[in-house]
Amino acid sequence: MMSEALASLTLGRRPEGRTLVTASWVVGHKDGSHRLLQNGELVFENGEILFVGHRFSGEVARRIDFGNALISPGLIDLDALSDLDTTILGIDNHPGWAKGRVWPRSYVDAGPYEMYSQDELAFQKRFAFGQLLLNGITTAAPIASLFYRQWGEMAAEFDAAADAAGELGLRVYLSPAYRSGGLVLERPGQIVPVFDEERGFKGLNDAIAYIERQTGRHGDLVRGMLAPDRVETSTLALLQRTDAAARDLGVKFRLHMAQGAMEVDTVRMLHGSTAPVWLAKAGLLSDRLIAPHATNATQEDLALYAENGVSIVHCPLVSSRGGSTLNSFSACRKRGINIAMGTDTAPADMLMNLLVGLITCRINDRAPDQVRSADLYDAATVGGARALGRSDLGHLSPGARADIAVFDLNDTVMAPSIDPITTLVTGGSGKVTRAVFVDGRVSMLDRKLAGIDMQEARVQAQVQFERLMAKYPERSWGNPPASEIFSPSYPIEVDAHG
Ligand SMILES: [Zn+2]
Repeated sequence: MMSEALASLTLGRRPEGRTLVTASWVVGHKDGSHRLLQNGELVFENGEILFVGHRFSGEVARRIDFGNALISPGLIDLDALSDLDTTILGIDNHPGWAKGRVWPRSYVDAGPYEMYSQDELAFQKRFAFGQLLLNGITTAAPIASLFYRQWGEMAAEFDAAADAAGELGLRVYLSPAYRSGGLVLERPGQIVPVFDEERGFKGLNDAIAYIERQTGRHGDLVRGMLAPDRVETSTLALLQRTDAAARDLGVKFRLHMAQGAMEVDTVRMLHGSTAPVWLAKAGLLSDRLIAPHATNATQEDLALYAENGVSIVHCPLVSSRGGSTLNSFSACRKRGINIAMGTDTAPADMLMNLLVGLITCRINDRAPDQVRSADLYDAATVGGARALGRSDLGHLSPGARADIAVFDLNDTVMAPSIDPITTLVTGGSGKVTRAVFVDGRVSMLDRKLAGIDMQEARVQAQVQFERLMAKYPERSWGNPPASEIFSPSYPIEVDAHG
């Protein structure tokens, strides 16, 4: 049952005047660390937090009691799922090169094309943004696959993405991804990089123009981040220009590296070292760099990250589902590396990622006492904020932005509870997210969003996804039928009389 004060909130709007929210637990912040305030209160107005503590003495326009819940800083997702996830197609279908995850020579020669229309590209971002909000994520730096693209991403779809973020009320770091190369499957098992550097430069220039045009839009919910796609498909000149542009624009750049065997082998072949060593030699490792996923990082790579202030984005669900892990989360923390979190795949569930992150860290450590639930929670809050250079995000303190997620501790998956953070992390499900405020605006309330009907959108998403799946044969070696690329878990029997 919704209280009267809660019912008075309007989706997509900032409540007028001061709003006081309370619950059995509020995550406060003091001396650089989160605190747990039992029966705490938080007051915000016009997008800014005014008070976090007990017994606020000032006037407020409304008081909202969320009951047995955790009022938390909104979660920060720096490799945020922003398309209809295609990695899910590869979960039980291997090897990737035979299943449409590397362009075969025949597809390259025929001329790669955009497999989605502009409308479909815009729709899938809006739908993905909705999923992020449903999981308590308030800040997102989107990531999407380029396999179904002609080459890179385009400014037009990111203009639409900025508007979607503005309408839904999600804080975003955007710009179209670009690259100067791609990997081509010459024959089964033989993958070679091909380059078109001018195309990469053009993509970078488009991204710079996009950031200049969009930064600060929608009440400053939209900001820029440069996103060269993968280290193995970037030339040195592209990365040098990217770093220089990031410095000039005052933004970060995100580059996937030290994340997979194919990448490590390709970079070693091209440059004679690992990607982090290659970048370090060129002076390109700094706190401007945000580097998913570090799952194949060497000790030397990690030492360079620590030394140069590089942030890692840890996405334990997608990594471990693919057979690799960050080794280890606790060891990276001990080195002093800043770790942010990412969802990267469906489900876009950060709390599930925190649980998988806890589990995989302990497996790698071969011990249960090197990492705590709070360490993962820190990565999804203050770790993400630090990577972005945002001291006003990731914690609930006076003066910080009012980006808030309310997690229901009364949900049956959250029992038994001993401590709200431990319970939330081990519960491992974002489905307990009850309300989300971004910059003081009501972006999600009781699983409803402003600007999109997620049930209707889900139907549309499935139709769109099936159209894409039907195009996979062109992108798979030898062009097998889709039914062969995506084999069912068990033999399918249909009703012959149906
Ligand atoms: Zn990623």
